[in-house]
Amino acid sequence: MSCFSSCILPPSMLGIMGGGQLGAMFTVAAKTMGYQVMVWDPDPEAPAAQFADVHLCAAFDDSKALQAMADCAAVTTEFENVNAQSMRWLAQYTSVSPSGECVAIAQDRQQEKEWIAKAGLKTVPYRVISAESDIDSHIEELLPGILKTATLGYDGKGQIAVSTIAELKSAFAELGQVRCVLEKKVDLRAEISVVVARLDEKHTVCFPVAENQHENGILAYSLVPARLPLSVLQQAEQMACRLAQAMEYRGVMAVEMFVVGSKMQLVVNEVAPRPHNSGHFSMDACISDQFQQQVRIMCGLKPAAADLLQPCCMANILGDVWLPQTEPNWSVVLNHATAFLHLYGKKQVRPSRKMGHFTVLAQDSEQALQMARALHLRLQ
Ligand code: ADP
Ligand code: MG
Repeated sequence: MSCFSSCILPPSMLGIMGGGQLGAMFTVAAKTMGYQVMVWDPDPEAPAAQFADVHLCAAFDDSKALQAMADCAAVTTEFENVNAQSMRWLAQYTSVSPSGECVAIAQDRQQEKEWIAKAGLKTVPYRVISAESDIDSHIEELLPGILKTATLGYDGKGQIAVSTIAELKSAFAELGQVRCVLEKKVDLRAEISVVVARLDEKHTVCFPVAENQHENGILAYSLVPARLPLSVLQQAEQMACRLAQAMEYRGVMAVEMFVVGSKMQLVVNEVAPRPHNSGHFSMDACISDQFQQQVRIMCGLKPAAADLLQPCCMANILGDVWLPQTEPNWSVVLNHATAFLHLYGKKQVRPSRKMGHFTVLAQDSEQALQMARALHLRLQ
């Protein structure tokens, strides 16, 4: 099959904003495919730097580094809080995906929800709170609820659960009276996510739906296939594609959804304009993985097939596993015939810090979850 006329081939230089674990896994994928990689990250110990050809170790407002990125054949990002304006500027000189416009939408819960509605999809009931005067008596319908800052929240940070108007007022003050959204707290039957790889309308591929379990606001396990009726899973994939289509998204995008109540209604929670923690299973359990897709699409290549090869469960490894103070017992995962360890090479261990993950393959996702839990316990 011939390549599109504009496609970018090895050994072209690809640039990525951010060099954390997502940047590192992207870099390995790109290097394996024969590309060169330039990583921009101010941290001298950024995980991606150990694999990259060039590490721009500079602040994200450094104009020389921005110029160096403009000389790459294509540029992408590993985090949503990248400066959307820099992405727009770069697009004058090189191929940028996702676009600065899409990144800006994903950075802001209010804009994100407006786009979800524009795509004809549902969110949880919510209201924007920009000033204390927005907290009126009508808002009671949304209580108990969760107040979330419109921007810069992650892993449960920037969120406060509230049950009364008084609590809402003090939560708004605690969050610094920045623009927020108040969401109604809904009855979560399950949480799922869909990673979409989209080049254009004709070339869009979804990874199988992951069922996500969180602990203390951080993803702990993703199991695939999700334990939900096929009709719900199909609907989730259609919704994710529809949202990507509405945003004219080019790149890899993760769509988090809630499965609400006994009727299993699907609502969109949020989107990430990049590969996602809940898509890491693809590296060991699918025909292609989300980082290969990121490389392909930024280069103008068609996404690869993304079918699941075997049921699996991905388990995150947080810094807590090192506590009280020993190196975890990696041999329990490494000695297992169907478990695959990924460590990100972060030198500093901190509680809650994402240090690595592993994926277990099994007969079904329930069994994979049990095995992953058992292995995780034995790491300590
Ligand atoms: P983050 O950016 O931290 O991932 P999320 O909006 O995804 O923020 O919220 C984190 C978690 O909090 C969700 O995965 C879910 O478990 C819970 N949560 C968030 N919003 C709601 C809601 N409206 N109702 C019930 N649970 C929620
Ligand atoms: Mg989330």
